[in-house]
Amino acid sequence: MDNIINKIFPPKCIFCSSIGSLICENCLSDCDLIKYQRCILCGKESTDGYTHPHCLRSKDNLPIQIISTYEYSGKVRECIRKSKYYSRQFMVLKILAREALEISYELLKDLKDFICVPIPISINRYKTRGFNQTLVIASIVGRTLKMNVKEYILKRIKDTKAQHSINKEERVKNVAGSFQTKKEYVLGKKILLIDDISTTGSTFIEASRTLYNAGAKEVRCFSLSKKI
Ligand SMILES: [Zn+2]
Ligand SMILES: [Zn+2]
Repeated sequence: MDNIINKIFPPKCIFCSSIGSLICENCLSDCDLIKYQRCILCGKESTDGYTHPHCLRSKDNLPIQIISTYEYSGKVRECIRKSKYYSRQFMVLKILAREALEISYELLKDLKDFICVPIPISINRYKTRGFNQTLVIASIVGRTLKMNVKEYILKRIKDTKAQHSINKEERVKNVAGSFQTKKEYVLGKKILLIDDISTTGSTFIEASRTLYNAGAKEVRCFSLSKKI
């Protein structure tokens, strides 16, 4: 069905209007990749995004790794914005996520025994958008890496402001107590958290704390983009 529709109404690149795809090859290659992976706590460079041993010791329940693909800037920011506010444009996000998985495949390929858990958006935001963009990304990760995706594992119990719209101290307060899970979902499980944008990492850190407190064995994170 999609193929027939594509033949009659061929998709156009949202940036340059060339025909064939919602993001053409040229515009995809124009998306800025992050230059190096960083530690989730201190934000400094770290090999493959592993949390530095001294950072791990300084705070309980941190994710042990965060992998990001793109910088949250330019065309990537446009794609994520468009996919959030125009419900049909989530196809754009799918294209970007597939490309990101290809780029970051080496860093993610050994996580097959992990469960993919998208960071849930608030009920209010879900109502305006009609879909959770992190679930779109998680589904692509799950399909590409043959991992189980379980949306219900994390529940958002507090509506928060968008993290990228507030400063660093506010972000930590903003997300505290945001999530809930159940012991029977996570006990002894390895979990890969998925988000579209990571800013200071405080959303991932709070979600990780919730999961470890309920007995998760290991928590790592993947964000499609990182705000530098
Ligand atoms: Zn283009
Ligand atoms: Zn560190």
